[in-house]
Amino acid sequence: MTTQKQTNTSKTVNIIGHYINGQEFVAEEPTNDVFNPASGKVTKKVSLASKSTIEQAIKASQNIFPEWRNTPPQKRARIMFRFKHLLEARSDDICRLIASEHGKVLDDAQGELSRGIEVVEYACGISELLKGEHSKNAGPAIDCWSEFQPLGVVTGITPFNFPAMVPMWMFPIAIACGNSFILKPSERDPSTAMLLAQLLTEAGLPNGVFNVINGNKDVVDILIKDQRIQAVSFVGSTLIAESIYQRACNSGKRVQALGGAKNHAVIMPDADINTTVNALMGAAYGSCGERCMAISIAVCVGDDTADQLVQQLKTRVQNLKIGPGTDITNDMGPLISRQAHTRVSSYVKQGVAQNAKLIVDGRDLMVEGHEAGFFIGGCLFDKVTEEMSIYQDEIFGPVLCVLRTDTIDNAIAMINRHQFGNGGCIFTKDGGTARYFSDQVKVGMVGINIALPVPVASQSFGGWKRSMFGDLYVYGPDAIRFYTRRKTITQKWPSSDSTDKPLFSFPSG
Ligand code: NAD
Repeated sequence: MTTQKQTNTSKTVNIIGHYINGQEFVAEEPTNDVFNPASGKVTKKVSLASKSTIEQAIKASQNIFPEWRNTPPQKRARIMFRFKHLLEARSDDICRLIASEHGKVLDDAQGELSRGIEVVEYACGISELLKGEHSKNAGPAIDCWSEFQPLGVVTGITPFNFPAMVPMWMFPIAIACGNSFILKPSERDPSTAMLLAQLLTEAGLPNGVFNVINGNKDVVDILIKDQRIQAVSFVGSTLIAESIYQRACNSGKRVQALGGAKNHAVIMPDADINTTVNALMGAAYGSCGERCMAISIAVCVGDDTADQLVQQLKTRVQNLKIGPGTDITNDMGPLISRQAHTRVSSYVKQGVAQNAKLIVDGRDLMVEGHEAGFFIGGCLFDKVTEEMSIYQDEIFGPVLCVLRTDTIDNAIAMINRHQFGNGGCIFTKDGGTARYFSDQVKVGMVGINIALPVPVASQSFGGWKRSMFGDLYVYGPDAIRFYTRRKTITQKWPSSDSTDKPLFSFPSG
């Protein structure tokens, strides 16, 4: 009854609540504004969960867990199949929500949704993926096998930049493994998560297996301390990832915490410049540079390579078509917030002050009819050096920095010195050079003539160095291990004519 009344409230005042036990739930709680970044206007408000809301979500997840863990994996897979079909049927609605709260262009939103759906498809194979390992006759009449049991209630805390895909890196596999899941999406674009929750219920997921609680840091602080939560998957900025990793580990949880990035592309003198420029344009400026796999550094081997690259990039960056994400003819939408705009602009200013050569300055861009939107134009720097803040820090905006060096070894050494190690790529026609690069470079995901080497769903995704804290990557085979605990059972059935006697030496085959 209360929920009904509160749900009605949410419709009239446009408040995004939480999704607990199979329905939307709005309580009397403080809220944050949710903006449409293209107009700069507040379009909704999102609730910030109180302790009692969080408690309800944890209880709902706990209550359903015993039933859900014993549901046969093939039945869980059938729900995933239905979820996949619903995601496809409702893809336009999902992408519009993403474009209206994140700002990215609709076909980019479709791209992220498709990558999320791939993980759901992988989770559809859960019966096969959860098959244990069996050793018959491990000893006389003794068999030994391993099982992978779900952990219990697990949580995912996600960033603003992929409101559909990053949650779907986590929960499809977590729930297919038999866990119940609490998602805490970004408070900046929370609506997509709420729609995903509704679709899971429509797909037949029992109430309480998947819950969404909205909120900010305070909600996260409670979740990562609560002893009933067994594991934390986090994706966001590095300082927060590191702090969550340490605090959640200290409270005895299994943790994977993926952080920020600064991804390098190495351009060799033999690279095809046209192909390279096309790839870099998409990877540096797509989604307004707000991707953890965005290429933000181009390291050119040789001055000729750099001169050609900068010359071609300059015109392309100046001609980027920028506007609201709902117009698919645009290459790039706005940044997520006014604060992000200020932050990116201030980095450009620092780059100029530190003597990098600003080839294209997008800071003063105005999009007609959207003057209050959080738009910024593409920026391009040449002659950037390693000590500059535009090289060291993650800017998370449409800013590409070109560095010049003279050998592949210097380029690799530069990447390996950087604090981040998410992705990295090389453009070359030489197989030996590419192989050397992928062997030596200290990053988690490598592209060879591919600027955004985001692994397919049957592999796993994660970075090195300060781009990830924890051992097991997200999605793919690592996720099956992350969301389950191995149990090994050794069994012997005594026979009737047993000649058993006490054995005091250590048992061996
Ligand atoms: P963010 O770190 O600000 O927020 C991420 C999540 O943490 C949100 O749900 C937020 O509510 C919560 N949060 C914010 N401050 C917190 C605090 N002090 N304590 C606990 N929780 C807190 O990140 P963002 O700005 O939403 O996303 C952009 C960042 O995410 C970038 O650094 C980007 O590189 C990173 N990212 C990394 C990957 C990857 O795979 N490595 C993928 C996507 C995004």
